[in-house]
Amino acid sequence: MTARFVQDGSGLTGATAAELAEKIHAKEVSSKEVTQAFLDRIEETNVELNTFLHVDADGALAQAEAVDRAIAAGDKPASPLAGVPLALKDLFTTTDQPTTAASKILEGYRSPYDATVTKRLKAAGVPILGKTNLDEFAMGSSTENSAYGPTKNPYDTSRTAGGSGGGTAAALASGQAPLGIGTDTGGSIRQPAALTNTVGVKPTYGTVSRYGLIACASSLDQGGPTARTVLDTALLHEVIAGHDPLDGTSVDRPVAPVVDAAREGARGDLKGLKVGVVKQFDRDGWQDDVIANFRNSVETLKGLGAEVVEVDCPHFDDALNAYYLILSCEVSSNLARFDGMRYGRRAGDDGSHTAAEVMAKTRAEGFGPEVKRRIILGTYALSVGYYDAYYLQAQRVRTLIARDFANAFENADVLVAPVTPTTAFPLGEKVDDPLAMYNFDLCTLPLNLAGLGGMSVPAGFDESGLPIGLQVMAPAFADDRLYRLGAAFEAARAN
Ligand code: GLN
Repeated sequence: MTARFVQDGSGLTGATAAELAEKIHAKEVSSKEVTQAFLDRIEETNVELNTFLHVDADGALAQAEAVDRAIAAGDKPASPLAGVPLALKDLFTTTDQPTTAASKILEGYRSPYDATVTKRLKAAGVPILGKTNLDEFAMGSSTENSAYGPTKNPYDTSRTAGGSGGGTAAALASGQAPLGIGTDTGGSIRQPAALTNTVGVKPTYGTVSRYGLIACASSLDQGGPTARTVLDTALLHEVIAGHDPLDGTSVDRPVAPVVDAAREGARGDLKGLKVGVVKQFDRDGWQDDVIANFRNSVETLKGLGAEVVEVDCPHFDDALNAYYLILSCEVSSNLARFDGMRYGRRAGDDGSHTAAEVMAKTRAEGFGPEVKRRIILGTYALSVGYYDAYYLQAQRVRTLIARDFANAFENADVLVAPVTPTTAFPLGEKVDDPLAMYNFDLCTLPLNLAGLGGMSVPAGFDESGLPIGLQVMAPAFADDRLYRLGAAFEAARAN
């Protein structure tokens, strides 16, 4: 089954970013033509898929023309991706487009500054097509928590494209954009990638600037690249990663050589690489064809020469509880700034209310139910008398999970696991059952608690034709290993 929205690999909108860049830089096609082709595709399909919350045709075309002029003048392209357009998750600030975080509370907000990621994209000559849909403030696993309606999966429009970054993922899968930027706090890049047959990478914490990324949970959030191929994702990774003095948690060290690793992986085999299969995530009871696909993927890795070992990460079973506690605590603090005074929407501003009433009314009207649930949970968990029992305990579990990873990496260079327990679920299925929604993240969130890098790479389809991803995880600052394995796996599947 292939929905009519899935791009077919033909024409400009089906090409990879690397191919488009090559053609643009060789003047075989202009960036303007390429950008226009994607804008047309968005125009045709956005009403049904609900991927973009805002489309900036003028801004994208102006950037494309600037790149074309520079190339015509004989200048070296500003970056390997100069002229290739991109879909930006609407959680990064932009001065020339609205930034909503898919929340009503930011209605009418215009940021006075660009996020560092936005700035780097602009400096790299990447036209930004628009801002994509997400779960409100990135809280959710299906984009159904967006104040602007859910994104639909191009493979089956009755199903979710994942979340929180479903908008970007569905844009890639449907040929609306060849490149995208997401954020991953507990899986929001990897999970939508898995559900849409696209590639998504959560880089090591601290390697991509969070400056101008609207905070969900600051100790977990990380922006990252998404695309339809491993090489395209690597090219984008090198554009956005690197030290930023404006982000206090940004690390000052060279970016891992991810493009070289992707090229090497695509050419070579995996001899000498030790791959750990996480025992806790290789289990019966999840969707049969997802588990069968995972085991099959492991065989593919063996066929490429990798040595496969089993690794035991016993505390991963507690990751979900620790994650949702820590996340809610950070959310309750981070979202205090949306008070109707400083950003976006203000309710009850008719002169008859006190400031406290305006704040309460703005927050009551502006936040959706999931955001409120987490603010209340986090505020409760942090209150005097409960701190030790909840927050402190969750932080201890976090340490144990980091140790599980450290032990596993003594026996393996990379780890692999499924990304999700099932393929894309029907819209509406979990939206009234928060715990079922949270449970969908159990394979992706341990990585965020440990601050490491991970990838979802397409691994095939289930019996109904819905995409499945393979998750790869690497030690801190070794994101290049994700790309080496990912590219070798991708090439092996193509053959
Ligand atoms: N689904 C997870 C959550 O709701 C992850 C979200 C994310 O990575 N932003 O917290």
